[in-house]
Amino acid sequence: MARYTGPVCKICRREGEKLFLKGSRCFSEKCSYDRRSYAPGEHGQTSRRKISGYGVQLREKQKLKRIYGIMEKQFHGYFEKAEKRKGITGEILLQMLECRLDNLVYRLGFAPSRKAARQLVRHGHFLVKGKKVNIPSYQVKQQEIISVREGSKNLDVIHASLKEAGRGVDIQYLRLDKVKLEGELLEVPKRTDIPVLAQEQLIVELYSK
Ligand code: SF4
Repeated sequence: MARYTGPVCKICRREGEKLFLKGSRCFSEKCSYDRRSYAPGEHGQTSRRKISGYGVQLREKQKLKRIYGIMEKQFHGYFEKAEKRKGITGEILLQMLECRLDNLVYRLGFAPSRKAARQLVRHGHFLVKGKKVNIPSYQVKQQEIISVREGSKNLDVIHASLKEAGRGVDIQYLRLDKVKLEGELLEVPKRTDIPVLAQEQLIVELYSK
């Protein structure tokens, strides 16, 4: 599947906020956004272009896609599914993104970034309900247990990540057992519990045009 392979720190600078795409670097003084919080490119520091309403909606969509590391086609697919469900489309869209296996592996702290989580999932290091799942987009359901496969329990990247940030511990919809190396999605998260700063309504408006 196609992936963005360019410099990720430029994405934060383009969106004008920290999107935490690079694991521990994002929390260190090496963070490019902390050092240069202006848009990349020759005119990044001087440009004062006024953004149209459409532009604001577009940027919001790009930001959310980039946070979760998803390309346009798949992202639009999530929107179409969300639109068909009963409820608030924007909230359902975010819930679907949040319940992706790669995202939950990251949230639980088994990987330093969603990109790293995706790779670990692809390489078959995780089980869901005791069965190997190597599809990063797998939608984890309420009360399903995500665990590290027996043969992968000594992986340095997992232990280093767990030690470092402690992510997942204070996320209300997740339960983490660091000893057993497993986590559980306790419930489908409510919008207010999802720690993503995005105005999803703008994305719904954009796609509804
Ligand atoms: Fe963004 Fe992280 Fe790079 Fe900082 S280090 S600019 S938060 S990806």
